[in-house]
Amino acid sequence: MKYYILFGPPGAGKGTQAKLIAENFNLMHISTGELLRKEIAEGTELGMVAKHLIEDGHLVPDEMVIGMIQHTFEQHKEVDGFLLDGFPRTIAQAEKLDEMLMQKGEQVNKVLSLIIKDSTIFERISLRAKLEDRKDDANSTIILNRIEAYHKKTEPLIDYYRNKGNYFEIQGEQSIEEVFACICKELE
Ligand code: ADP
Repeated sequence: MKYYILFGPPGAGKGTQAKLIAENFNLMHISTGELLRKEIAEGTELGMVAKHLIEDGHLVPDEMVIGMIQHTFEQHKEVDGFLLDGFPRTIAQAEKLDEMLMQKGEQVNKVLSLIIKDSTIFERISLRAKLEDRKDDANSTIILNRIEAYHKKTEPLIDYYRNKGNYFEIQGEQSIEEVFACICKELE
């Protein structure tokens, strides 16, 4: 089983690329953001806790997303591997992921990191707010909270994976096709 992480700030294009990668490499795409939005739409207990945090631009508790990931791994044994999008987002999540994979005799194969500037994050998310009806995209204070959460809690993961030697950067400010071509080179 292969385990890939698609890493980057909000608005970097992870969701768009993840769909292309999953189709071309027979991977199961797991987006914690999408899983959380599904829980919210279904009005589950987890969804109700997540809703306020997400709509304020904060991260949800680590245990919540770890549980969702664990559950998805167990449900899908038929795929060649998994492509994680939006997870891990904190050091605690990354450590827990390593522990889960180690128990199976597996490991994170590669981390593909999409690099974009904060100003591009802002532009892309504001644009997306008009296309998708996401409350967390619609207000600049919330977008700034998300950018701050990224720099404080998620960015330290770059050194975490760099130290493991499986971290690869991809310039995210190119066309969708160009970014995908760079990703393919890393995965082939
Ligand atoms: P984006 O990449 O644009 O931030 P996502 O769909 O990946 O969008 O995530 C939306 C929101 O869901 C995040 O802002 C956060 O509140 C929550 N979320 C998603 N994944 C995680 C995670 N791994 N840990 C904590 N919160 C998460």
